[in-house]
Amino acid sequence: MNKAVFLDRDGVINFEHGDYTYDKADFQINDGVIESLKIIVEKGYLLIVITNQSGIAKEVYDHSAVQGLHDFMTATLLKDNIPLAAVYYCPHHPDLSECLCRKPQSIMVEKAIARFNIDPKASYLIGDRERDIIAGGTAGLTGILIESNSTLMEVVPMIA
Ligand SMILES: [Mg+2]
Ligand SMILES: [Zn+2]
Repeated sequence: MNKAVFLDRDGVINFEHGDYTYDKADFQINDGVIESLKIIVEKGYLLIVITNQSGIAKEVYDHSAVQGLHDFMTATLLKDNIPLAAVYYCPHHPDLSECLCRKPQSIMVEKAIARFNIDPKASYLIGDRERDIIAGGTAGLTGILIESNSTLMEVVPMIA
């Protein structure tokens, strides 16, 4: 089985600026993320991003904008030899369309666990919201709650 570190996107990988991020110009990788993810990859973890993107349901942006940004994020990290195994997003918002995937629900995490044969007991989820931690916990991951936009270097020692 594989082990993985699941990452929320906004506020964990890139700067959470209090509004939807869908433009590359607003996508700024937070301090310490590159260094931290390099260490996590060297420890043998897969990296999987799990993100709520309700701006799609609200028609602030569309699927292609999100997918384009995720291609950009994946390519940017890969330049530093940080491979993302997958990026999962929920496009729904409960005011507009009920769904089973939006965090704090765990379906996105569980899809990744099945697809990549991940051992949840050996895996972690880093998020900046309680709902992230709940989604990971339901799937059996150890949750690490950080403050939005804080450096991931502080949490790297918590990952075995
Ligand atoms: Mg977040
Ligand atoms: Zn959803």
